[in-house]
Amino acid sequence: MKKQTIAIDTKSVRPDVYGSLSVPLYTNVSFEFDDASLMADVFTGRVKAPDYARVENPTVTNLEYRVQRLSGAAHVTAFNSGMAAISNILFAVTAKGRRIITSRHLFGNTLSLITGTLKRFGVESTLCDLTNTDEVEAAADDDSCCIYLEIMTNPQLEVADLKALSQIARKRGIPLIADSTVIPFTETSLKDLGVDVEVLSSTKYLSGGGTSLGGLVLDYGTFPQINERIKGDLLFNVGAYMNPYSAYQQTLGLETLDVRYKRQAANALYIAQELRKIKGIERVTYTGLEDNPFYELARKQFGPTSGAMIAIDLKSKDACFRFLNNLKLVHRATNLFDNRTLAIHPASTIFGLFPEQQLRENDVRDTTIRLSIGLEDPDDILEDIRLAIG
Ligand SMILES: *Cc1c(COP(=O)(O)O)cnc(C)c1O
Repeated sequence: MKKQTIAIDTKSVRPDVYGSLSVPLYTNVSFEFDDASLMADVFTGRVKAPDYARVENPTVTNLEYRVQRLSGAAHVTAFNSGMAAISNILFAVTAKGRRIITSRHLFGNTLSLITGTLKRFGVESTLCDLTNTDEVEAAADDDSCCIYLEIMTNPQLEVADLKALSQIARKRGIPLIADSTVIPFTETSLKDLGVDVEVLSSTKYLSGGGTSLGGLVLDYGTFPQINERIKGDLLFNVGAYMNPYSAYQQTLGLETLDVRYKRQAANALYIAQELRKIKGIERVTYTGLEDNPFYELARKQFGPTSGAMIAIDLKSKDACFRFLNNLKLVHRATNLFDNRTLAIHPASTIFGLFPEQQLRENDVRDTTIRLSIGLEDPDDILEDIRLAIG
């Protein structure tokens, strides 16, 4: 079956007793057993069945199963936010004295998780230019525990060569972990490019229009200890498993993901091309534009679509604020891949508490606006942007 059919017609892991056609929502905490020995088997992992909803819930399991079938991952675990998924995969691979090889170009909270939260527990990190494989090779040492990256950074939209990075990771015997939030896993085969684990914020494309928070770890099984840690330790002890209502919404989101994504990506490409013609926009960054420095590599790695995130640069921070204040249709809001088009000034918001020197090092300019293109008619979005710039 093709992916779009799998997304819709995958049956529940266990048949619903009433034959519910859409995925049933179980919001209960506890599950009852017919006898004590089955109960013992489940609690000790000899038989797989839900016992307590902190670690397993049928609605969440159904989402994980569909994602597993769609992605070909060996193991999928759903968490209650993208950050919960990211922190848990890093808890699974790192320890005191180990080193995370990563980039300066990271989602703000991932950057502060690595350089702040984990640093307090003795985890080291080296922030390097992941597009420069010599630099990565030099940074990877015996203490390294993983190479961690975002497949298209935000808001720089930088793309690193995954195969080259995976060779460095292989040589060191460490996993390559990729945050794939910005292009749905239904569009890519990152496993074939050497990615060992994908992690993503399902809040974005999957949730079906900003309905719920969630995060997924897609583990391709190359490092068996990762899944043992997540399922046997972290789900129990950290307690960040996805809540069932979010899993319900995101399963419905998954059913329409393909059409929504394709339309959003087509809108974004058209809008990026048109934005270049607008006086007052100094720069348009979108990897689907043929003269973007990452155009070829992005196509090779992620296929013909380029996501729905566009960065534009205006003359100054003041111009950015005036632009945001003039918008009538496009929403001043954070989040990505909502059904609605959203605009934000990352330097003063997501990165607003970072010191200025760090913003410069991280290439977060105060002239940049990040747009997340939605499902509206693209000409209406463009007209709003044109008027707001004017
Ligand atoms: C939004 C986002 C996250 C964090 O996800 P939440 O669901 O908000 O916790 C992580 N990485 C990227 C690239 C994101 O866009």
